[in-house]
Amino acid sequence: MKIICIGRNYAEHAHELQHAVPEEPVVFLKPDTALMKNGEKFWIPPFSNDIHYECELVLKIARQGKFIQPKFAYTYIDSVSLGIDFTARDIQNELKKKGLPWEKAKAFNNSALCSDIFVPFENFRDIHDVHFSLKVNGEVRQVGHTKNMIFPVDKMIEHVSQFFVIKTGDLIYTGTPAGVGKVNPGDKLEGFLEHQKMFEVIIAG
Ligand code: MG
Repeated sequence: MKIICIGRNYAEHAHELQHAVPEEPVVFLKPDTALMKNGEKFWIPPFSNDIHYECELVLKIARQGKFIQPKFAYTYIDSVSLGIDFTARDIQNELKKKGLPWEKAKAFNNSALCSDIFVPFENFRDIHDVHFSLKVNGEVRQVGHTKNMIFPVDKMIEHVSQFFVIKTGDLIYTGTPAGVGKVNPGDKLEGFLEHQKMFEVIIAG
């Protein structure tokens, strides 16, 4: 399986990192070795002093497809989960300055936390009216509402499936709302999809 990530998909987050709102989706990949299961500790890797959390809605792909039209996009979604796109912001900033690819900052081991709870897609009346949030040490730091996505889910699937065949079990991380920040050893991160607790992870290092 592969992990497809959309960057800068919420305007307020693009602004907090001083980016322009993109005209087409920003896309990057993480390998399967980036996937971290709910319940493990997240160890701060030795190569970064500035690991950020980015809480994101995650889509699990139901079946194989390419060049998917927006009107069929929803038939490719199996279920919805919540995760964290961990980012080595210091490394990302260096790579961006040099115009180099982001993989070392984004695709390292365990950089894609995903809840083990997957809510069937048919349970959602409207995927663009879903709220999610992240608490750090009990304090709400990120609040997302999927209506604020710059590129909605159908457009996102249309776009990425032009470049990559999407396959059963692939995950799409759909971008993070404002409020990203650095993690520190001992932090407890908890993710919520509507009122359901989806994951809890302790930062170690
Ligand atoms: Mg992200």
